[in-house]
Amino acid sequence: MNVVMKEKAEKGGVFTTKEIPVPKSNEVLVKIHATSICGTDAHIYNWDEWSQSRIKPPYVMGHEFAGEVVEIGKDVKAIKLGDIVSAETHIVCEVCEFCKTGQAHICKDTQILGVDVDGTYAEYVAIPEANAWVNPKGVDPAYLAVQEPLGNAVHTVMEGEIVGKSIAVVGCGPIGIMSVAVAKAVGASKVIAVEVNEYRLNLAKELGADVVINPMEEDPIQRVLDETDGLGVDIVAEMSGNARAIDQGLKYLKLGGRMSMLGIPNDKISLDVANDIVFKGITIQGIAGRKMYKTWYQVKGLIESGNLDLEPIITHRLPMEDFEKGFELMESGNCGKVVLYPDS
Ligand code: NAD
Ligand code: ZN
Repeated sequence: MNVVMKEKAEKGGVFTTKEIPVPKSNEVLVKIHATSICGTDAHIYNWDEWSQSRIKPPYVMGHEFAGEVVEIGKDVKAIKLGDIVSAETHIVCEVCEFCKTGQAHICKDTQILGVDVDGTYAEYVAIPEANAWVNPKGVDPAYLAVQEPLGNAVHTVMEGEIVGKSIAVVGCGPIGIMSVAVAKAVGASKVIAVEVNEYRLNLAKELGADVVINPMEEDPIQRVLDETDGLGVDIVAEMSGNARAIDQGLKYLKLGGRMSMLGIPNDKISLDVANDIVFKGITIQGIAGRKMYKTWYQVKGLIESGNLDLEPIITHRLPMEDFEKGFELMESGNCGKVVLYPDS
């Protein structure tokens, strides 16, 4: 089968061939219809410091996908041949304290598809049955593939009160623009998008942001205060990982507000803990992955509600062979979700 491999400990990836995997007794083999590029894949492609410490080449990249189950292991119970599945990409141990207390999304022995084990930039992937998420039939596979990052957005936006609340989505990469759409769909009172890239600011607008702010062009703190009667926003959904943006977000967050942090800074950062956290009485929440599987049911419900338009989020569709073009787009920032097709 055709695959995109991270072959060596260096920048890039290689379009090559590999044996079709044989599913283990608890696994299903999926023929991949569509697979999308995640920021994590871009980190691995660019071979940044995090990748160097985590990734063990050679292996197959990619983790967001949808496809058809074509073979099942002998112990598989619920998944059937012909099912159209996506997957929760955190493969968890099921026996640690966290897995046993309904917190599998922070399992201490998590393995990630396309990070720690062979992934989905391939014609086929074998995944544990437990990770397979059965989709309705007849839906555009690109929409199904992006449910995983959409789950990150849903987890961040919905991990506290949101109906009737104002929210600033900081960093409108693919997950940020999805967060804008989710916040609008579930009834936030005002959605403010903060982003430095104009292409992505426009996407945020298209997805329903009430206010867009480019912090390179105006003071985001002043503008958010102006937009919120001088009080600040109820919620900051931090999706930039940018130190300055995080510091500013804490300043325009309302007293008693919620700071939900998904973005991953590439270094330690310095914050005014006394004034911006303690005395403001705010809550800071780390958001890791998706709740298993509460978030997936929320994603399903939102999609079925018809209130979420995923089409503007998917900005580019390419044959898998053109993956390098996909990574260039990701590098430029002039894209939303880029979807690859192994079969075209
Ligand atoms: P992305 O890198 O495409 O998006 C980040 C966006 O932030 C970019 O559009 C960038 O232009 C913008 N940005 C940079 N500096 C900014 C600033 N000062 N103010 C406003 N915006 C700024 O990433 P993504 O795929 O959308 O993911 C969002 C973040 O979440 C990333 O940091 C990613 O690593 C992280 N992530 C976390 C989890 C998790 O489980 N916690 C899962 C997936 C992704
Ligand atoms: Zn565990």
